[in-house]
Amino acid sequence: MSESRDSSHSSPHSPSYCASYCSSYYAATIHQASDYPQLEGDQRVDVAIIGGGFTGVNIAIELAERGFQVAVVEANKIGWGASGRNGGQVTGSLSGQDAMLKQLGKRLGQENAEDFVWNLRWRGHRIIRQRVDKYAIPCDLKFGHLQAAYKPSHINELRRDYEASQQHEIGQHVEWLDAPATANVIGTSLYHGAIRNNFNMHLHPLNLCLGEARAAASLGVKLFEHSPVLDILHGDTPAVVTAKGRVIADSVVLAGNAYHRLERKALQGKLFPAALGIVTTAPLTEAQQASVNPEDLAVYDTRFVLDYYRLTADGRLLFGGGANYSGKPSADIGAELRPRLEHTFPQLKGMALDFQWQGMAGIVINRIPQLGKLSPNVFYAQGYSGHGIATSHIVSEIMANAVSGQLKEFDLFANMHHWRIPVSERIGNGLLSAGMWYYQLREKLR
Ligand SMILES: Cc1cc2nc3c(=O)[nH]c(=O)nc-3n(C[C@H](O)[C@H](O)[C@H](O)COP(=O)(O)OP(=O)(O)OC[C@H]3O[C@@H](n4cnc5c(N)ncnc54)[C@H](O)[C@@H]3O)c2cc1C
Repeated sequence: MSESRDSSHSSPHSPSYCASYCSSYYAATIHQASDYPQLEGDQRVDVAIIGGGFTGVNIAIELAERGFQVAVVEANKIGWGASGRNGGQVTGSLSGQDAMLKQLGKRLGQENAEDFVWNLRWRGHRIIRQRVDKYAIPCDLKFGHLQAAYKPSHINELRRDYEASQQHEIGQHVEWLDAPATANVIGTSLYHGAIRNNFNMHLHPLNLCLGEARAAASLGVKLFEHSPVLDILHGDTPAVVTAKGRVIADSVVLAGNAYHRLERKALQGKLFPAALGIVTTAPLTEAQQASVNPEDLAVYDTRFVLDYYRLTADGRLLFGGGANYSGKPSADIGAELRPRLEHTFPQLKGMALDFQWQGMAGIVINRIPQLGKLSPNVFYAQGYSGHGIATSHIVSEIMANAVSGQLKEFDLFANMHHWRIPVSERIGNGLLSAGMWYYQLREKLR
């Protein structure tokens, strides 16, 4: 198989909707493809959801399980966005957790805030496991994760997180590894120590998202593909409008994350798309697999812009890293990632890369997920800053609660202070790139 370009990637600066998935390893290994109709004519439901990624699909499941009539309107295919393209690592790294603690500490008291954030970090794992079990979703789910210290100066912070885990029930799943012990479980001498967490998981995200969509459909959710929403009409019964139809509802939830351009007046300058890339090698021999990742763990390192990798079910090394904060796709992900992959695993030097692709993550300046309302019955949820598999599932529970009238947790998020850069997206992404460059430089000097 030759290297493939992500020709179906559309920049959010010039959205052009796509009939099919980008040519990723995930798209090539779908268990059961989706085939939902295009929205035509009028539909009347309780809740209309825009976006068929983890956030939209899981809000739909949560609401349908409570008896709501729900429709999901997806511009492209289910899981076409970040949800079907990511690293597949389900971890307790909640984006923006320090900023969240600071803000919540003032409102809830430090101890309550710490409890809330700690529980939030692991809540998505439970939801995903229940969903996979209840709806029998085949998605190569496996346990075991390593967070590896890239520099000696990263050890202290990692060690603090390990010690915090030992104060909680999760401690039984978490182990501290010094440098030699780390090199025993992962075939590189790059790291100075690691936390091994056997509660964290890795999985095939596109098959999870498609399985969740099938679960939603089995609960009566109406799903529509190839139906870009062009406008949201606000009012007592808001509506989402596509070229050929409308969904009229009591509530609308906008879950288009980094890919949508709706509601610019309220949302512009709050979230910035960053392109993240992934490659996979050709399938490794058993000996090669044993040499790079003998215990089949998912791994990421401790840098601000980190590398992350794992083996796929068919024995490829799936490797992601770096980020392009310009808001535009990168020209050649394979060329960008090969040196990082070979630096980590010199034993794979020259290995063929069968797939390369990229996707857009929604970056928020303080990294706290953004949940809010655009009008009394039109909600939005976005911006997990590259850590969204678990978070999107947690958010879906919080959003479903909010739509059904339980606003306590939603209000905590909706009242978070967020920076907004009131400039064009191109300039905003330029400022974001400069900020990220500064943080990375600071990290290099540590
Ligand atoms: C390359 C990459 C690697 C990542 N790795 C990890 C990882 O290992 N672990 C982790 O936890 N997180 C990871 N993430 C982040 C994670 O994938 C996301 O946070 C998460 O999938 C976001 O889900 P979502 O449903 O909110 O958004 P998306 O999955 O992006 O879904 C949004 C959907 O909305 C649709 N849409 C947009 N506009 C419209 C419109 N006008 N009308 C109708 N539909 C519309 C889009 O087509 C898209 O399908 C990664 C992200 C990327 C890009």
